[in-house]
Amino acid sequence: MPDPVADVIVVGAGNAAFCAALAAQERGAKVLMLEAAPEEESGGNSRFTAGAIRVVYDGVDDINTLVPDLTPAEIQSTDFGAYTAAQFFDDMARVTQHRADPDLVELLVTKSFATLNWMREKGVRLIPIYGRQAFKIDNRFKFWGGLTVEAVGGGPGLVAMLTAAARKRGIAISYRTRALDLLHDGSRVEGVRVRRDGTVIELRAGAVVLACGGFEANAEWRTRYLGPGWDLAKVRGSRYNTGDGIRMALAIGASPSGNWSGCHAVQWDMNAPEFGDLSVGDQFQKHSYPFGILVNAVGKRFVDEGADFRNYTYAKYGRVVLEQPGQFAWQIFDRKVKHLQRDEYRIRQVTKVTAGTIEEFAQKLEGVNGAEFLATIREFNAAVRTGVPFNPNVKDGRCTQGLAIDKSNWANPIDTPPFEGYAVTCGVTFTFGGLRIDNAGAVLNTDHRAIPGLYAAGELVGGLFYFNYPGGTGLMSGAVFGKIAGASAAGANDA
Ligand SMILES: Cc1cc2nc3c(=O)[nH]c(=O)nc-3n(C[C@H](O)[C@H](O)[C@H](O)COP(=O)(O)OP(=O)(O)OC[C@H]3O[C@@H](n4cnc5c(N)ncnc54)[C@H](O)[C@@H]3O)c2cc1C
Repeated sequence: MPDPVADVIVVGAGNAAFCAALAAQERGAKVLMLEAAPEEESGGNSRFTAGAIRVVYDGVDDINTLVPDLTPAEIQSTDFGAYTAAQFFDDMARVTQHRADPDLVELLVTKSFATLNWMREKGVRLIPIYGRQAFKIDNRFKFWGGLTVEAVGGGPGLVAMLTAAARKRGIAISYRTRALDLLHDGSRVEGVRVRRDGTVIELRAGAVVLACGGFEANAEWRTRYLGPGWDLAKVRGSRYNTGDGIRMALAIGASPSGNWSGCHAVQWDMNAPEFGDLSVGDQFQKHSYPFGILVNAVGKRFVDEGADFRNYTYAKYGRVVLEQPGQFAWQIFDRKVKHLQRDEYRIRQVTKVTAGTIEEFAQKLEGVNGAEFLATIREFNAAVRTGVPFNPNVKDGRCTQGLAIDKSNWANPIDTPPFEGYAVTCGVTFTFGGLRIDNAGAVLNTDHRAIPGLYAAGELVGGLFYFNYPGGTGLMSGAVFGKIAGASAAGANDA
């Protein structure tokens, strides 16, 4: 039998994989990471993110620990508020309709701050998300929605900092190396079979951590598990996440877990390419819909755009758009809310129309029944409770009344030109179903017993997310469970 190439093989080179590799190395293990992509496309979905990370913190002191270079002026001019463990627990329970696995949620929430601080110690620099998660009121920034810090340089910055941290510590990364199968002697995982440069070889190790993403980039699996129509969704991120890790583990008897028919999917530019484009990153998303309305091809509204803060609705509204005729919708805004639009509305690659009158606008919205659209606008405008003050920082209760689908917050009549429309379809982010793990990150078999030598972290772990997802939790869960899995794989169980 060939010699082991490492103590721990980590499959993948995204956030979860790097956290696993760093944790294993910290415990003295020799670590080899396998990345299917060439280096220039490496980093998985993690690289496509804005780098926003949901973390429990208790006021400005904790933020200052995570962001030691916060200036006195920033501290003075910012109300960071707090995001308590109780709030994170509540958010997970509420958005997943109380389905999330309590043990996994407990680890995610209670280890979030310590894990992010550990990443900082490894070399990940963080900053407050002034641009997208705070509004300025009376000359003070106020953060909202429990999402307060991001990696410097967003997802590309995060992957670059993690790669540097790994290299500095002697962790080897083999690019263009796709894991195909697990080497399994009937009881223990002993390594992986890989394809590198067109050649299939076997790599042996004491333990394997699977951190190679969900099946979002696999149109056949999406259709099989998410349902008909999901083959038509655009993939927001990496084209390399085709469900290999899940498939390999199931093939040796791992237990599937979680919401296999569910996924994270958002509103995404209708003309975006089939897979993510690293030069555009996450900017094809269109997330300012709480301040406008959405209409479909029939010219009607079909969802409560202001049901909650965008952090708590964006991940489920992609599916709602996919279900509309032609799988598209137009987001509608007028001049009054233009200043609230996020940066992504100003990119060059945007599918947008503008008009000076509402009638001209109705003509320009391609694929939409213009007469029905005008009727929708009339009804909507008449239903807005304009007596309630508009406030984008809180759920302001400025709603509509009496419509078939009311808007619960941030309702404004669409009456002030220029009018703007943005065409969106469904962009799938990542899938929710995956492998069952225990509290040490070990993959469980169908008898719910740990498979010796096999660990998992990141998107391919099932049981955390159902139906929906609180923004910024993907990176946090990859970090928490990556660190746990890496430490366990290195032989320690006290992560
Ligand atoms: C556009 C976009 C924006 C997002 N924004 C945010 C955000 O701001 N905050 C947040 O928390 N989450 C965000 N997410 C979600 C987040 O990206 C994921 O939840 C998280 O990055 C998953 O990390 P991971 O390490 O599990 O997977 P990934 O980062 O996707 O890494 C998987 C790795 O496995 C590799 N791989 C796949 N198959 C194989 C194989 N067979 N062999 C070897 N390697 C393989 C891939 O190439 C990749 O390197 C966003 C996602 C997208 C697409």
